[in-house]
Amino acid sequence: MPSFQFEVEYSKSGRAACKQCKEKIDKDAVRIGVKMAVDMEGAAGADAAERQKGHAAEATKWHHAGCFPKIKKPAWFRQHLPENDEDITGFDSLRQEDQDRVKEVLKTCRGEDVRDGKRKPDASDRPSKKAKVAEEGKAREDAEASALSAQQREAIDTLKAELSKKSVAALGCMLHKNGLPKSGRKEELLERVAEAKALGVPPVCPTCDKAKLRFSRVSGDFSCPGFFDDEAKRHKRCKGPSAEAMLVRTCWQEMGA
Ligand SMILES: [Zn+2]
Ligand SMILES: [Zn+2]
Repeated sequence: MPSFQFEVEYSKSGRAACKQCKEKIDKDAVRIGVKMAVDMEGAAGADAAERQKGHAAEATKWHHAGCFPKIKKPAWFRQHLPENDEDITGFDSLRQEDQDRVKEVLKTCRGEDVRDGKRKPDASDRPSKKAKVAEEGKAREDAEASALSAQQREAIDTLKAELSKKSVAALGCMLHKNGLPKSGRKEELLERVAEAKALGVPPVCPTCDKAKLRFSRVSGDFSCPGFFDDEAKRHKRCKGPSAEAMLVRTCWQEMGA
């Protein structure tokens, strides 16, 4: 049976296309790669030149993180993904928020329960995903067992529709202005902008005073994504916010303001 190697990294250029949706992967976007590993048993008898050829035969196929779960069925992922997400080449070099996102993506790949409302498929996703609805049913139920009221969810959906014509760059500017991360696919940026516009911008973590808190629409809880420590030049984890912390969202800042 062939084995596969997985890799994750920030896209080094904007030139590579996603093997799933065929669209370009933006520079610095998280991309997940897979390549067939050289079959060492077969290679044992082969000479060095043949092994070299084997190496060259399979280049890494890159995908948008969001597209990655669509490339194979969950059974395939369960069989071939390493048991620990951390064992994927490059995983450690990602920022904490992106590590978390990749973990979510890999859960979706394996057909596991995804606890974050962000991955709730939107209406336009559903028809093409019919076959996967059964597997994703549980994840969707969770997403719909949301901490948000129907009114809040509707406000977010309305804003998403209004904002959908904005470019990725424009959405990124809006997020930046509000101190929110601007990494991710357009769909993710749309969610982030719409949520912060509808509900307010999550406050900065009172524990580390560095990062804006992340909100789970499922649990209604805030958590700290951690932050990049400029002195230590590495990502630091943060266990904040504490249970007693007063967390108040701040108003969304419009671009002209
Ligand atoms: Zn893609
Ligand atoms: Zn923190």
